[in-house]
Amino acid sequence: LLSLQTYDPDIHAAVNRERERQLKTLELIASENIVSPEVMEAMGSELTNKYAEGYPGKRYYGGCEYVDEAETLAIERAKALFGAAYANVQPHSGAQANTAVLFHLLEPGDKLMGMNLYQGGHLTHGSPVSLSGKWFDVVSYGVDEITHRIDYDQVEAIARKEKPRLIIAGASAYPRLIDFAKFKEIADLVHAKLMVDMAHIAGLVAAGLHPSPFPHADVVTSTTHKTLRGPRGGLLLTDDEDMAKGLNKAIFPGIQGGPLMHVIAAKAVCFREALEPSFTAYAKRVVSNAGTLAQTLTEEGATLVSGGTDNHLLLIDVRPWGLTGKEAEALLGQVGITVNKNTIPGETASPFVTSGIRIGTPALTTRGMGEKEMKQLGRCIADALKHRNDPFTAAKVREQTAALAASFPLFTREIKE
Ligand code: PLP
Repeated sequence: LLSLQTYDPDIHAAVNRERERQLKTLELIASENIVSPEVMEAMGSELTNKYAEGYPGKRYYGGCEYVDEAETLAIERAKALFGAAYANVQPHSGAQANTAVLFHLLEPGDKLMGMNLYQGGHLTHGSPVSLSGKWFDVVSYGVDEITHRIDYDQVEAIARKEKPRLIIAGASAYPRLIDFAKFKEIADLVHAKLMVDMAHIAGLVAAGLHPSPFPHADVVTSTTHKTLRGPRGGLLLTDDEDMAKGLNKAIFPGIQGGPLMHVIAAKAVCFREALEPSFTAYAKRVVSNAGTLAQTLTEEGATLVSGGTDNHLLLIDVRPWGLTGKEAEALLGQVGITVNKNTIPGETASPFVTSGIRIGTPALTTRGMGEKEMKQLGRCIADALKHRNDPFTAAKVREQTAALAASFPLFTREIKE
């Protein structure tokens, strides 16, 4: 047997360089995280060789007895973790999970209501460039111009006027808590179904740090790789038996073929980790780190969307510092800090330029960083952006971020309280 290094040195080198990049830079992309070696081991296992169309006990292929064990464990753990009656662990991604819900609940041309992409929603919540926007009649809601918080009166007014069949609550760039009970009240008023996409906050929900979408949502979708810290993939949850049956059919044979059994095994490991007390400590630290970063940046003069954060992410409006999001992303990249440019409420620039950056703490929290490091990092970010024309500042910040990265491993399970 040849090793990857011998057989395919080019791919081996790319993998190694990516590992080095992750080790040597500071990852602040809010949707990213670092998985445990155990999740990685399950993902890189022989389960990738197996076809298992269908569900545990009802497969279209022989030889499924062991992958059935893995998928059943993943389902049971997901249900226990989120307090749901039914789980489907087969969606290949968050987008697949969302598409399955649309496929099950709507007919082409039906009306769906989701959060505007430019104000924090996700592409799959009705953006015109996605299937969700091309095949359905979309109405969207946004945030209040001043507070930058979801305007529930506006949500209700739009819902009453438009009478969507489905309302989607959930976001990719929203730093505040979402009131799922309120969304359910509004959905009930207009006889719409409520889907909660908790992809970003799933880890916080699992740890009880964000109000749960249950018992309010008719269906909950998620990814497993963001705050939840599992393999790249999707998840569907519901308390309703008919909904569960419909979702299972929507995933397979509706929109997917064979499930990724190696990823499903890794999801099971992730759910087990998330059921442990150490995960709660990690999730608490994710939130407190975001708070510390927000406070430090505010002290440094940054303008934060909504003035702060309740969760794992924050958005900086970089216009007052004379920058675009694109420029800020590049400046931070040069000093070893990875973020993404992001549209902000009241956006005036194109999505390729933007006026903001999005910053999240899950990955650095997983590395073991805490309050002291967040304060240092907040000052580094502000220095790199404010004093961008001073080459000495950039060099000094680069040195600090390299030293910070060098002092922490990629993954630590135990976060000290
Ligand atoms: N839903 C939300 C709220 C997201 O933020 C994302 C990803 O960014 C997705 C769904 C899609 O997940 P994936 O990239 O796995 O398709």
